[in-house]
Amino acid sequence: MSEENDDYLKLLDRAFERMPHLSAESIDFKIPDVESIIQGTKTIIRNIGVIADRARRTPQEIGKFLSKELAVPTSFEDQRLIINGKFQNDELNKRMHTYFETYVICRECHKPDTHLESGGRGMLQLVCEACGARYGVKSY
Ligand SMILES: [Zn+2]
Repeated sequence: MSEENDDYLKLLDRAFERMPHLSAESIDFKIPDVESIIQGTKTIIRNIGVIADRARRTPQEIGKFLSKELAVPTSFEDQRLIINGKFQNDELNKRMHTYFETYVICRECHKPDTHLESGGRGMLQLVCEACGARYGVKSY
């Protein structure tokens, strides 16, 4: 191999190293576990802020979704989501998975880099920033 070729390969190596790697977050995206406690007749989700950050949604949006799913009012107090009614952690985790699978994770590329746009007629548009997919989901 000539010296010139060798240099070229080294250059390729270096270029490859500089290429953006897929972030571990995109590949191993894990839906965060709900941390909840029941207090009297209410259920409190203590880590709604963390969940909302992971979903890149506002805690209010997730509160609204849970309110609809569970058919009870929700409110906020000191960054915690208060649900009117007693709900087991398993049940809340199941609902949260539904939320992420429907409204956060792109069904085409399975990445969570998405946002929602208003779609009109009781619909939302899920827009994927990773692969460009765009499709309608039911409003909540
Ligand atoms: Zn996508």
